[in-house]
Amino acid sequence: AKQTGRGRVELYAPEHEDQIRRTAIVEQSLKSADLEEELHLVFQPVVDARNLQLIGFEVLVRWRSSHLGDVMPGEFIPVAERCGTIHAITRVVLRRALSEMQNWPEGLRLKVNLSIYDLSSSSQMLALLTIIERSGVSGQQLTFEITESAFSDQLDIILSALNMLRAIGSSIAIDDFGTGYSSLSSLHHFRPDLIKIDRSFVVRVSDPYDGRDMIKTIIQMCRNLGARSLAEGVENETQCRVLSDLGCDELQGYWLSRPVSAEKAREFAHAGVVK
Ligand code: C2E
Ligand code: CA
Ligand code: CA
Ligand code: CA
Repeated sequence: AKQTGRGRVELYAPEHEDQIRRTAIVEQSLKSADLEEELHLVFQPVVDARNLQLIGFEVLVRWRSSHLGDVMPGEFIPVAERCGTIHAITRVVLRRALSEMQNWPEGLRLKVNLSIYDLSSSSQMLALLTIIERSGVSGQQLTFEITESAFSDQLDIILSALNMLRAIGSSIAIDDFGTGYSSLSSLHHFRPDLIKIDRSFVVRVSDPYDGRDMIKTIIQMCRNLGARSLAEGVENETQCRVLSDLGCDELQGYWLSRPVSAEKAREFAHAGVVK
């Protein structure tokens, strides 16, 4: 039990212990998982902020573990990054998503999340490029999302990986913008084509004082960098309207659509709209 008080530092938090145990179980299950069998893809629509027309989808991975049941990526991706399974996961996600794209009308884009561990491995990058080449999908239809953690060390290696993706015409997006520790100068290094403004800013857009001004400033910064702006986590009509009025380029969030199955994504793709 937790023993607090009397100025003693709490070294033994039971929640912490449970957390460590859970992580170990997730890691074990992940290592023994049949990824081809247990991983599934969902697709979340991204729309043009001016007219709400469908631009494409972000692919998001789901894991139905034979041991643990459903585990969300927010939990297992960090574990996969630590135990090395992330490379196999990224390959499965990319291969399947590219194959699903063949069912969409031309012109729709696919956004794929990459881990810093993908970018820092040249053999993994070659494997990903091979998957794209074999799929027959043009690199120009793809956007690769990286988080600000990529700004850390190994900058040269990361930049050369990004250049390989640019060389096949793909776009680069900075994911979760505003949550990391990037400086403007390092952001400049990445020459992102798109900046995804984190949900934590989007929830504050209806605050007419700092919230609205903050988003306005970020959208302006994106313009100055020559990048498009995308607002993540749009959950209501007010946010949608304000963001569109402020000149944000792309919108994504539950109010437009939750992540959906491949079948539902096909329907959206053919309709060209989500609502
Ligand atoms: P992310 O890349 O920032 O993805 C957006 C997350 O926000 C998704 O959660 C999505 O379902 C959720 N979301 C979308 N719209 C809304 C909204 O309006 N409100 C709220 N509250 N949430 C919204 P998900 O699918 O659980 O993914 C969590 C994170 O796991 C992702 O964050 C990404 O960092 C990672 N992830 C997911 N799939 C992959 C993958 O294939 N590869 C890698 N490397 N990471 C992945
Ligand atoms: Ca993302
Ligand atoms: Ca994000
Ligand atoms: Ca995230």
